[in-house]
Amino acid sequence: MTVNRYWRLDAHPQGQDFASALTLHEEALAPLAEREVRVAAQWLSMDAGTRMWMGPRTDGYQPPLPLGGKMVGLVLGTVCESRDPAYPVGALVRGFGQWADYPVVTPALTGLDIVDGNLADPREHFGTLGMNAWTALIGVRDVARIQPGEWIAVSAAAGATGSMACQVARNLGARVVGIAGGPEKCRYLRQELGAEIAIDYKADDVAARLAAEVPGGLNAYFDNVGGPILDAVLPSMALFGRVAVCGLIAAYDNDAPLPGPERYDQVLMKRLRIEGFFLPDYFGKTDGFLPPLRNWLDEGRLAMRFDETPGLENVLTAYARMLNGGAIGKVVVKVG
Ligand code: NAP
Repeated sequence: MTVNRYWRLDAHPQGQDFASALTLHEEALAPLAEREVRVAAQWLSMDAGTRMWMGPRTDGYQPPLPLGGKMVGLVLGTVCESRDPAYPVGALVRGFGQWADYPVVTPALTGLDIVDGNLADPREHFGTLGMNAWTALIGVRDVARIQPGEWIAVSAAAGATGSMACQVARNLGARVVGIAGGPEKCRYLRQELGAEIAIDYKADDVAARLAAEVPGGLNAYFDNVGGPILDAVLPSMALFGRVAVCGLIAAYDNDAPLPGPERYDQVLMKRLRIEGFFLPDYFGKTDGFLPPLRNWLDEGRLAMRFDETPGLENVLTAYARMLNGGAIGKVVVKVG
């Protein structure tokens, strides 16, 4: 009998105490319903946004995950059983499944991409060709509408989405300020991601450094964080600057919304455009954004650093490390 191990969400986590909220279970594989596809998971993607779905808030961009259900997350693996003829056994696929050995997906409802099985490192489907990279491209190019020579700041800049945003901006000819926690991450921003300025928000005065080092102001801000860093950046925005609101990770540990921003006055004073964006709104338009990412990957101008943890049983450790800044780049879990 093949056993499927899976993580179940039993309670809304308090802060980053995931061990009290999620438990690992086993089950026999159930027969598939029509249109369902079973995936033998190879890697799971640890994504900050899923922390919001674990909470009780009902005013988010999607409803909270049901307690007592399997934890949902992005999965990369091969189809091992299929009742959807569009997804043959053996195909390499990526999509939203469960934190499990054998996630089950209904592609007609939630989508499932058949991806290139010939990449030297298949993890690139979670990396330079994955959803963090798509998000970065949309945010930098289409929301912030960055132009060559302009200055852009990126927060959580050494993480999966932020590291892609820095490189996308650099590749589009922008001048990049990366904001991240710690000297090692700042070195990574300067030496590998092409940031001209790296600010350690845990040690530096972000507002003072921006005022001193970008005196003409930032034309754009790719915001992954919200909170105090947003307040530090707003006074340094240039006239007619654009803020692409990608995420608000400073608030994900709380079940309450993030107050502010305190420097809301700058929206008027600088005539700013602040625009939130959400990747699934762009699904179906992948033809437009995969080619540039693939070109940059092939040209060596886009790279993702991976932080890999072996074992489905170790998901919670990897997940917490991603959220608390213990990793550089993309945190993934190797399954199977
Ligand atoms: P990630 O950046 O790989 O990891 C999260 C990073 O956030 C950590 O490495 C940590 O880096 C930083 N961080 C955590 N708490 C912080 C705080 N209080 N203040 C400042 N930095 C903090 O995670 P990710 O999955 O790529 O997600 C990054 C952001 O992108 C999230 O806000 C997520 O919701 C957003 N996102 C949005 C979309 C969309 O469609 N809008 C899609 C994908 C991701 P440090 O060491 O630098 O603190």
